[in-house]
Amino acid sequence: MKQDVIVIGAGIIGLATAERLLLQGANVTILERHAVGQESSWAGGGILSPLCPWDYSDEVTRLTSYSASLFPDWCSLLHHATGIDPEYEVSGMLILPPHDQKTALQWCSMREVRIRQCSIPTIESSKMNLEGLLLPEVAQVRNPRLLRALRKRILELGGKIIEHCVVTGLKRMEHHLQSIISSHGEFFADYIVICAGAWSTTILKNDAFKLNIKPIKGQMLLFKFDQPPLSTILIQNGVYLIPRRDGHLLVGSTLEDVGFDKQATASAREYLLNRSHSVLPSLQMMPIIQQWSGLRPASANNVPIIGKHPTIRNVFFNTGHFRYGVTMAPASAEILVNAITGRPQPIDSGPYQNGWESLRSASGIS
Ligand SMILES: Cc1cc2nc3c(=O)[nH]c(=O)nc-3n(C[C@H](O)[C@H](O)[C@H](O)COP(=O)(O)OP(=O)(O)OC[C@H]3O[C@@H](n4cnc5c(N)ncnc54)[C@H](O)[C@@H]3O)c2cc1C
Repeated sequence: MKQDVIVIGAGIIGLATAERLLLQGANVTILERHAVGQESSWAGGGILSPLCPWDYSDEVTRLTSYSASLFPDWCSLLHHATGIDPEYEVSGMLILPPHDQKTALQWCSMREVRIRQCSIPTIESSKMNLEGLLLPEVAQVRNPRLLRALRKRILELGGKIIEHCVVTGLKRMEHHLQSIISSHGEFFADYIVICAGAWSTTILKNDAFKLNIKPIKGQMLLFKFDQPPLSTILIQNGVYLIPRRDGHLLVGSTLEDVGFDKQATASAREYLLNRSHSVLPSLQMMPIIQQWSGLRPASANNVPIIGKHPTIRNVFFNTGHFRYGVTMAPASAEILVNAITGRPQPIDSGPYQNGWESLRSASGIS
């Protein structure tokens, strides 16, 4: 592939897409409004699975499970190529009650996903063990490290990254995008891929039709122990605790429909503290090291839009990954690049393009 491609947005999706395009021989430039990887992709927990996979449609879990299977090789390659370790780790995920055990076991058995009833010790093991359903194959990464590794890898592969460059408009002539208007002037390319997360719809303006990707805020807390207080990721009632190798512990997260507001709030802190204290009482002694928030690019039912714009021939999308964009990143990049190059897809990718198909009919475009 010899074409020039511009990717708008340097979150995990834009970076993974750019890396894949570079490996296919394209000339790639990324335009990023801030610095690389400072938005949702930085804020996320890095769990490489839906929280309770049986709560999601096959469209979501097909993509997450295929994508999660790409992580070991991807992270190992990135580590070797860049010297930055994304800390991929199969730490398992324990889901504490209340949970729908029957549905969970049935779902896992039909898909040959390992699951078992399990009791694990915590740092407070003399007082309590935690019992729940363990998904032992669930892994995690450290998002900021993965993002730094990808940035370095893209530059090493010859990609260009222009930071602090705000895309303000798109100039099109009928069914062809002529140029991108930005704070750094006008850019031209054969293909444009929009990976602007929660801002994807605003970039397209009238050409977004009924594409409805909106920000859903998530807040997180960070703690630091001398050693990891847990051996697995824990989930209870939608709140999760993620132990990192070096003793850091993340507690997340909220789901807030408050527009583009990224303010960290006392009410979210209280909510996360209350829920996590009941799981891990020793947290009450620990100071909060940091609280932050990120804006997830929310799409209908968590199904991302990956593929061609319905009317502008040289515009593509890779966006709307909502709660699981880190998990979905390598597979979404593969599907998008195959859509541009016309190669066969590794999984049924129809559902990710259907979002646009229904918009096309909704807007009367044939
Ligand atoms: C609290 C929280 C916890 C999460 N936990 C997990 C998890 O455990 N596992 C998981 O898989 N996923 C998780 N997610 C979801 C995941 O982080 C997102 O789905 C993913 O980061 C989306 O990536 P993205 O690249 O599309 O968006 P972003 O990371 O938001 O990147 C979009 C980029 O586009 C840029 N941009 C926007 N507008 C413009 C413009 N006009 N011009 C130029 N650049 C522009 C932005 O600056 C930004 O850098 C979590 C998210 C949050 C907030």
